[in-house]
Amino acid sequence: MRLKVHTQILIAIVSGTMVGLALGEKAVHLKVAGDIFIRLLKMIIIPLILASMVAGIVSLGDIRRLGRIGLKTFIYYTATTLLAVGVGLVLVNVMKPGVGVDMGAEAAVDMADRETPSIISIIEDIIPENVFAGMAENKVLSVIFFSLLLGIAISSTGEKARPLTAFFESLNTVMMKVTDWIMRLAPVGVFALIAYTIGTMGLSVVKPLAVYMVTVVLGLGIHAFVTLPVLLILFGKYSPFKFIKDMFSAVATAFSTASSAATLPITMECLRENTGVSNKVASFVLPLGATVNMDGTALYEAVAAMFIAQAYGISLSIGQQLVIMLTATLASIGAAAIPGAGLVTMVIVLRAVNLPLEGIGMILAVDRILDMLRTAVNVWGDACGTAVVARLEGEELNDKAPNNQTGKN
Ligand code: ASP
Repeated sequence: MRLKVHTQILIAIVSGTMVGLALGEKAVHLKVAGDIFIRLLKMIIIPLILASMVAGIVSLGDIRRLGRIGLKTFIYYTATTLLAVGVGLVLVNVMKPGVGVDMGAEAAVDMADRETPSIISIIEDIIPENVFAGMAENKVLSVIFFSLLLGIAISSTGEKARPLTAFFESLNTVMMKVTDWIMRLAPVGVFALIAYTIGTMGLSVVKPLAVYMVTVVLGLGIHAFVTLPVLLILFGKYSPFKFIKDMFSAVATAFSTASSAATLPITMECLRENTGVSNKVASFVLPLGATVNMDGTALYEAVAAMFIAQAYGISLSIGQQLVIMLTATLASIGAAAIPGAGLVTMVIVLRAVNLPLEGIGMILAVDRILDMLRTAVNVWGDACGTAVVARLEGEELNDKAPNNQTGKN
């Protein structure tokens, strides 16, 4: 009997952890297998987004529908990100992980050459000077922007654009096939990535930061297991138990790669294969979500900023904490969907309330493991959002029957 991919991935996570612990530093040799998996995923992101967005928009028929989906998506993404940050702020105020942390022993970090996004650079990210350069540089937002334009233009051209419609539909189907092949490698990729990370991490760095980590993990847990499932039940009318099973391969890939962008092909595949969400909705809501909707990152940035304030003995007023809430939301939108991006955009939050940037040095050591967790929550949030928007659009979803899955999840 062949095990389902999500069962294989579960086994990969457990055995990867054990092998990582057993091998220690030697696990570095497994990196290459993980890298191959991530490269394969990254390789198809751009054509996948282009094909699926154009095909999705063209199939909407009526452009007003795109506006409606866009508005719902915007409301869902903003509301959930703010909810996540709210949970993080409450927890960090209650648990006070930074109080009593000894600052002296921590290394300062030079943030001078780490770029933080400015308004101009955000515009540059969205509107490419040259669409092919945008694609070549993996600028996901600019590919989304161009795909939107292209899709709308094809829709409003009519007869003469028929060949293009057929072309993008066909490309979309073919890209999904390629994704399916890559997904079969996921168990090996996840195993290698986890063994490598656990093996080379070193557990000694964790101890002084334990309470801080627990605070972040607890916050992420509440968001992932309480807030989002409640929304999924209320607005998506979808059983969270079935949905987590449906999306497990995507969430586990997000966890092991720490990149929402690299995970995107698998997130799309899981949604289409297992949940019944249409390409119309998935192709718009998901790529956008992978790039701008990062609930986990926003929560993490708010907790980390407060942790740094507490460690430096700086107390922040309610007003300043509201600034953190707002800037953490913006910083999560600006963060690229790649490993460690949230750590970089945190500069925005720290600057906004005048906290010392050197504080980032303190939390650097445990960033990778928290990055894996927040990325899993980011992808879970995108997936829940897609199901909710699809349901609000009146779609019939595969929400109950546990047996009518295709077996490919
Ligand atoms: N790695 C995260 C992601 O891809 C972003 C972050 O660093 O928080 O979603």
